Amino acid sequence: MTSSEHLAQLGREFHRRGWALGTSGNFSAVVSRDPLRIAITASSLDKGQLTAEQILEIDSNGSVMPPTAGKPSAETLLHVAIVRSLGAGAVLHTHSVWSTILSDYHKGQGGFFIEGYEMLKGLSGVATHEHREWIPIVENSQDMNMLSGETTRMLEENPGVHGFLIRRHGMYTWGKDLAEAARHVEILEFLLESVGRRQMMEPQY
Ligand SMILES: [Zn+2]
Repeated sequence: MTSSEHLAQLGREFHRRGWALGTSGNFSAVVSRDPLRIAITASSLDKGQLTAEQILEIDSNGSVMPPTAGKPSAETLLHVAIVRSLGAGAVLHTHSVWSTILSDYHKGQGGFFIEGYEMLKGLSGVATHEHREWIPIVENSQDMNMLSGETTRMLEENPGVHGFLIRRHGMYTWGKDLAEAARHVEILEFLLESVGRRQMMEPQY
């Protein structure tokens, strides 16, 4: 399976799971490092119908590389920032209900911890449920230069995180390849829903 086929399949799957409804979310995978080339979803596509032909190739400035053509996702610069900061091989961005709610509820603290859950062991490098995972939250913006700069700063200040939230917007996570990044989406979405539902039972929790 090519990166484009894999990205399209993940888009359809995340749509089905309710994590990328309508045209929301965007997905990318590094094709080459030098020069940097990234396969990424085109802008404004229904993720439930995503096909491999709708995946573009971009360079480190976010410019589209022929023979692919089209408008890359509006959040392309955030994908580039994460690939450059962390050396990630794939970056996946969802707009789930729980990431939207929790990113709003906890924004005053700049993030929140998830700890004690068995499912934390699905995150790369985590071997015990006793792990304490910090989920940083950045303020939302339509200025992608500003948001990608803010993301780069946040990643420098929070080494070792596996993902972060944008307030009232959604989640970003990544991995060494698409398989690992997709696993991180499943694990983090499970954990966010668990934490969110738990806090509804006991708000101070
Ligand atoms: Zn988004």
